[in-house]
Amino acid sequence: MTYKTIILKRGKEESLQRFHPWVFSGAIARADESIEEGDLVSVYSHDGCLIGNGHYQIGSIAVRMLTFDDTAIDAAFYELRLTNALRVREALGLMRSDNNAFRLVHGEGDFLPGLVIDIYAGTAVMQAHSPGMHFGRDLIAQALTRLPGGLVKNVYYKSETTLPYKAHLDPVNDYIIGSYDSDVAIENGLKFHVDWLKGQKTGFFVDQRENRRLLEHYAQGRKVLNMFCYTGGFSFYAMRGGAQLVHSVDSSAKAISLTNDNVELNFPDDPRHEAFAEDAFKFLDNMASDAYDLIILDPPAFAKHKSALRNALVGYRKLNAKAFEKIAPGGILFTFSCSQAVNREQFRLAVFSAAAQSRRRVRILHQLAQPADHPINIYHPEGEYLKGLVLYVE
Ligand code: SAH
Repeated sequence: MTYKTIILKRGKEESLQRFHPWVFSGAIARADESIEEGDLVSVYSHDGCLIGNGHYQIGSIAVRMLTFDDTAIDAAFYELRLTNALRVREALGLMRSDNNAFRLVHGEGDFLPGLVIDIYAGTAVMQAHSPGMHFGRDLIAQALTRLPGGLVKNVYYKSETTLPYKAHLDPVNDYIIGSYDSDVAIENGLKFHVDWLKGQKTGFFVDQRENRRLLEHYAQGRKVLNMFCYTGGFSFYAMRGGAQLVHSVDSSAKAISLTNDNVELNFPDDPRHEAFAEDAFKFLDNMASDAYDLIILDPPAFAKHKSALRNALVGYRKLNAKAFEKIAPGGILFTFSCSQAVNREQFRLAVFSAAAQSRRRVRILHQLAQPADHPINIYHPEGEYLKGLVLYVE
């Protein structure tokens, strides 16, 4: 199969020679006139050397590179990349009888830019972020069902909100293979419903798995506030860890009902848990000082783009300042940022400012990150997004 051709400007091959997987539109000297959104393209340096193959897209990131040689992007390609991704998850020990929820493909981190796949028991939930992956969805779904051990039985495609709106692809969220069976998955022995049909992202935030487990170790006897709880992940870990009480807060009523269902699934009729559909800032303003001695702050991305960085940092400072002001002495704060545009240093500085404002003695106990099934491609440092601090507040 011949791919459309893209020729780069002089010198613009350099980052690609270091395997960075993006070609920006400004780097392109010439492209085939017939080139269209989502096309498979071969990228050449200005002097005609092949650099590799990728997916073309209209926008600032014009090509997402899939190979750095002449390997074809076909069924065998996807099967091999998915098998390699699965090997990594096997090495991580994520496929166990007490754990069947994990991320199988994390875009650039698994050398498949534009593609995210989460596994929930026998169902793979797949999200395309690029038109190229949208066009490849059937090949990818077939490759998923051929993975060893019959891991994937159903493939749900969920790209209505992830594909570029301007591409006019009109994707429909639906099963490509199989159909609905159970929506209950298991993470570290705890059960939860995954609402991939209507929930955020693929239905659950698998990226907090290790951080939830760490929280469990701190929960014994504590009064826990899980702010921005979504489906209640941190809450049911806190309960297993022996918390005295757990309050979950989210502004979405749907999230609160999912949280209640999940707590009920693991701890039926347990009076220690209560959930509130309220705005986080209001809740923190109105709550009594010292009511909680373990607080989780895991807000949505405050900065989706670099342009929103300044406001995002103010947001993190204000939110954390409220927690420092109210947390009981000897309290532990788990605070996160999932904004890719905010780096580790900037986040730490925002939390530092909030701590200083409260004039309390604060120690950093742990510095947290995204888990290993959300790997960072070493050639693509932009893949780092989740940052967290665990703080002891005197
Ligand atoms: N901690 C969760 C993921 C959080 S996602 C987990 O472990 O799964 C962010 C959540 O914040 C979403 O559920 C969203 O509904 C909620 N949210 C957004 N703005 C909010 C606000 N102002 N107050 C309370 N919750 C908010």
